[in-house]
Amino acid sequence: MGTLHVPKAARPAWERLSLALLDYEPPCAADPGAWWSTDPADVEAAAKACRHCQVLRPCGEYANTAGERHGVWAGVDREPSRHADPAFFGGKKYSTVRVSDHLPPSKNHQREAPL
Ligand code: SF4
Repeated sequence: MGTLHVPKAARPAWERLSLALLDYEPPCAADPGAWWSTDPADVEAAAKACRHCQVLRPCGEYANTAGERHGVWAGVDREPSRHADPAFFGGKKYSTVRVSDHLPPSKNHQREAPL
């Protein structure tokens, strides 16, 4: 991952995520390529791997607050352009896990990026 610009509004969420990562290595740290891949299989595998991540909630809070539009964050493919291309996932409905699929409702997740 290159240098990440953290918008001012997302700094508290970024700090919470950073604290949560102090003593935990998430799946995306072991194989970051899948989280930034343009291969549909990689993207879907990355999104599914997020389900088991211990920092999924603060990751999603950060990504939603920051309006991330690249890569997979917290089980959500953040690339709007991919969702505008019906051929990207072979014409099948994309099955990326949404944060709301496996977390209880939270006001912090109501700004989830649209797919
Ligand atoms: S939830 Fe966030 S930190 Fe965890 S594997 Fe997914 S993208 Fe990485």
